[in-house]
Amino acid sequence: MRSGHPWIYRADITSSEAAPGDLVSVASERGRPLGWALWSSASKISLRLVSSDGAPDEATFWRERLARAIAYRDSLAIDATAYRLVHGESDGLPGLIVDRYGEHLVIQTLSQGMDRRLPDLVGWLVELSRPLGIVARNDLKVRRLEGLDESVAVVFGEVPETVVVREGPIQYEVDLRRGQKTGLFLDQRENHEAAARYGRGRALDAFTYLGGFALRLAAVCESVIALDSSATAVAAARGHVTRNGLANVEVREANAFDELRELEIARERFDTIVLDPPAFARNKASLERAVAGYKEINLRALKLLTVGGHLVTCSCSYHVDEALFLAIIESAAADARATVALVEKRMQARDHPVLVGVPETHYLKCGPQAVRTKP
Ligand code: SAH
Repeated sequence: MRSGHPWIYRADITSSEAAPGDLVSVASERGRPLGWALWSSASKISLRLVSSDGAPDEATFWRERLARAIAYRDSLAIDATAYRLVHGESDGLPGLIVDRYGEHLVIQTLSQGMDRRLPDLVGWLVELSRPLGIVARNDLKVRRLEGLDESVAVVFGEVPETVVVREGPIQYEVDLRRGQKTGLFLDQRENHEAAARYGRGRALDAFTYLGGFALRLAAVCESVIALDSSATAVAAARGHVTRNGLANVEVREANAFDELRELEIARERFDTIVLDPPAFARNKASLERAVAGYKEINLRALKLLTVGGHLVTCSCSYHVDEALFLAIIESAAADARATVALVEKRMQARDHPVLVGVPETHYLKCGPQAVRTKP
C-alpha cells in the first residue's frame, strides 16, 4: 500500500467492522488513517483503496471519477465507435468495467462495492454519456470470489440482439449479451492496426474470434487464413468477411495447435502470422502448462514463417509477464533454429491504461513483431 498499490489482503486485516461493499475508513494498527476503501466480505482482497484524502462524499465522488474516465477517452481521438470507458483500478474505480459500443454501454461490476452501487452507476452513466441502453454483463466467474452471482441483464433502456460498430475501416456486428468478453476484444484495437503496418503476402491469424487481426490484414495481404475453434466465432467471423466485402479471407473452424502442425507437415509457408490465444494461465497453478502452450504455438509459427516474415505474437495472461513471454519466444526461436529480431513491443490499447505500481493492470503483451531471418 505504501508503494501505491490499492489492495489490502484479508491476511493483513487485524480487525474490521463493515457490511459487504461498504466504503470504509482504513487505519493502521496504531490508528494512523490510511485512506478510504471499498470493503469485500468474501474476496481475499478485502480492501480496494479509492482515496487517501478525507471521507469521499458518495453523492459526487463516483460521478466525478466516471466523468474523468470518460473525458480521458474523449481525449484519445479513438478511430472507432467501440472502446473502453472505465478500466477498473486504472480509473480509480476498482471492480468496475464500462465499454461503449456505439450508442450502447456494457457494464461489469466485479466487486461487492461496485455491485452494490450498480443502480447509481447506471444513473450517472446515463447522465454523462446518454446511451440508448445499458446491459450488465455480470456473467463472469470472478464474481464468485466476491460471493456475487452470475447474470446478464438490461439495466437501462433497450439493447438490441446485435449492435453495429466500427473499428477503423472494419464494421462489426456485436452480440453484447453473449459475445466473448463484452462483445469484442477492445484491448487489441490498436494492435490490429499495428499488425496491418507489418502485414504482407500470405497471412495466418490463428485465434481470430470475429476476425480482429484477419480483417485488417486483408487490405494489405494477398490472402488470409483465419482459425478459431469456436463454431459460433467462425460463423460470425465469416459474416464479417462478407459484411466488409473482403474476398481474400478464408475462415476455418480448427484447433490452432492441430492446424499449425498440419500446415507444417504440408510444408505451407506464411509471410505474416498472428498468434492471439486466450489466456493460457488463469492462475499461478496453471503457469507451467501455459508456458508449454505458448512455446508450442510460437515454435510452430516460427517454422511456418518465411525468411523476412512477421510474427505478431500476444499473451493476455497476467501471470506470464513480459520477461517470461520474451524468454518463451527466445526458447521457441532456438528450437525452430530461427533468428528473430524484435521490432516492436506493444500492450493493451490506450483506453485500458496500466496503473504504474499495479502490475495486475498490465496483462496484455503484444509483440515481439518479429522478423525471421535466415537460420
Ligand atoms: N484475435 C482476436 C481475439 C482472440 S480471443 C481479436 O483480436 O479480436 C481467442 C480466441 O481463440 C477465441 O475466439 C477462442 O474461441 C479461440 N480459441 C481458443 N482455443 C483455441 C484453439 N485451441 N484453437 C483455435 N482457436 C482457439
